[in-house]
Amino acid sequence: MIRTNGLSKAFQSVEVLKNIDLQVAANEIVILLGPSGSGKSTLLRCLNGLEEPSAGSVELNGIRIEPAMTKKQKLSNFREIRRQTGMVFQQFNLYPHKTALGNVIESLLVVKKMAKAEAVKTGEQLLERVGLADKRDAYPSRLSGGQQQRVAIARALAMKPAVMLFDEPTSALDPELVGEVLDVMRQLAKEGMTMVVVTHEMKFARQAANRIVFMDGGVIVEEGSPERFFTEPQTERARKFLNQLG
Ligand code: ADP
Ligand code: MG
Repeated sequence: MIRTNGLSKAFQSVEVLKNIDLQVAANEIVILLGPSGSGKSTLLRCLNGLEEPSAGSVELNGIRIEPAMTKKQKLSNFREIRRQTGMVFQQFNLYPHKTALGNVIESLLVVKKMAKAEAVKTGEQLLERVGLADKRDAYPSRLSGGQQQRVAIARALAMKPAVMLFDEPTSALDPELVGEVLDVMRQLAKEGMTMVVVTHEMKFARQAANRIVFMDGGVIVEEGSPERFFTEPQTERARKFLNQLG
């Protein structure tokens, strides 16, 4: 579903991602771990077409981006990749002047040009899926952080993405609200969604991941099953990372 080949990303002259070869199969849950500044967010942004590789290629569901392409080809492929990826950020960024339902159906109306009645029906089903059917008409300011993040997940699902990317989706939440968001993510995983998740929730990582990818300094340092990563990390850097978590 996802394949990067020798993916590198530099900002000015600083290489933030170096020669990343990552593959994610359909239905797989890959959890990206690593210290702050290791390049996790930049990698997700390359996967969903928000950043252009400096070298190497990114491929999502058969659509490729590589430096050799013409600008026009790239633009068209970027657009298609963005359409096929749902991204959920630490900050939910809901439209404050739209209701929960309004937020979820915005892309259906604007991008898919779906008829209002059909969009509303789809939106209600999506809110149901994240356990918020009763919050349909609530504005974000009246929702808890956990509820807002679940609306953000429903909004990302609206475009029927091939892959869902999560960048620290629970890091801005009060501890008691983390569980409800992780539950929705577990549910998605169970339904077979392909997911790449950056998180600091180690218990979730251990339970939900099919594979852990550990990054440090812009490279993939090690990857493997959660059992192996958490019980017998293969590298000194991974051991240090796990020890610092306490
Ligand atoms: P992580 O998500 O693992 O904390 P990031 O991908 O956010 O790491 O950042 C990796 C490195 O890239 C950091 O040193 C960060 O300062 C740098 N970086 C990220 N985005 C930019 C940017 N737009 N311009 C310059 N440097 C950036
Ligand atoms: Mg980050």
